[in-house]
Amino acid sequence: MFTSLLPETIGQDTIKDSNAKRILNLLYKERQLTKHEIAQRLGLSIPTVISNANDLMAEGLLEEAGVGDSTGGRKPVIISFRPEARFSFGVDIAPNEGRVIMTDLDSKILEDERFPILELRKSKHIAEQVSRIIEEMITRRDVPRNKILGVGFSLPGTVNELELVLENAPNLGIANVSFRGFAETLGLPIFVENEANAAAYGESVLGRVKEMNNLVYVSITKGIGTGIVIKNHLYKGMNKRAGEFGHMTVVAHGKVCNCGREGCWEVYASERGLVDSYFDLTAQTLPSIDEVFRRVRLGESAALLALETYLDFLAIGIQNIILLLDPDYIVLGGNLAKYQDDFFPSLLDKVFVVNNFFQKGDTKILFSKLEDDASILGVSLLPMRTLFFLDEKVV
Ligand SMILES: [Zn+2]
Repeated sequence: MFTSLLPETIGQDTIKDSNAKRILNLLYKERQLTKHEIAQRLGLSIPTVISNANDLMAEGLLEEAGVGDSTGGRKPVIISFRPEARFSFGVDIAPNEGRVIMTDLDSKILEDERFPILELRKSKHIAEQVSRIIEEMITRRDVPRNKILGVGFSLPGTVNELELVLENAPNLGIANVSFRGFAETLGLPIFVENEANAAAYGESVLGRVKEMNNLVYVSITKGIGTGIVIKNHLYKGMNKRAGEFGHMTVVAHGKVCNCGREGCWEVYASERGLVDSYFDLTAQTLPSIDEVFRRVRLGESAALLALETYLDFLAIGIQNIILLLDPDYIVLGGNLAKYQDDFFPSLLDKVFVVNNFFQKGDTKILFSKLEDDASILGVSLLPMRTLFFLDEKVV
């Protein structure tokens, strides 16, 4: 459906031959191989490998990189992946700030710029800002336009990625924002994804758990977003709303959530939850979790107690996720991660308190290696999928 928006030389149809796609995918992972090795690994004939490799070299995606050791006869030519052959953009839209990155095919961040967002409702204005930054980056890097695969947007809310619509973002106070206009303004293929799904996707492709089948990514920021990866596929559900664990009820008739419901997990276990927990004890509103943790490190009793209460709620949600999905990994992301030394042992004790269902080690809990970059790198991968990823990675 994006075909009409694609630049002329790149698109879903460019690499029609799935053998070419498989060869490119293999070299993306292995960096360089001889034609003989490629043929062996993929079960292809040498002429098929040669023909496809020639096409991919003509596209600039592969190159010859010297010769390997001979086993007698001619030395084999080594074929190498060219990460600088194409480029992708990731855009993160948060309440007050946007961020644009430009990456190569190895997800190396080449350009990185933040811009203020004054009025979220003025999506045309945001599109213009993003467009200007992208154009500047393209000019600075002197990249031909047909080498740009597209732009992925990471959005904090329910997203319909086929219709390019941000359906509902309670923490931004906006709903039903179409991104189709962005495609016209930018003149590039556009992809949108929920922030936590994007982070989960980024983790599964680039992060420390990329070999792991099943994980739940828990993004703890102003709210809580979660993304589910099952057997290496992002699980989004029938109506693309799966993984809204942030809005599962942990307290009947509890505090009111931005979504309109009561007692949602994110009210108690997001950054706001920690600041609120301190307020409940002291009637004092601290500006951020940084200040709470500063006081925790000073040994202030109210801060320590606020953190204890907060961790009880964080643990309850994590336990619920384990009971629901029994994942290999739960990956925690967000600002909280930088304070992991202050709370992680205590969190583990609370999650794995003696119970009849699971014990320590059944599910590994760890912190995102990609840190703040998980979602934006995740969405910058979306334009690359059609080029050389072997499946959609979404179920
Ligand atoms: Zn809620």
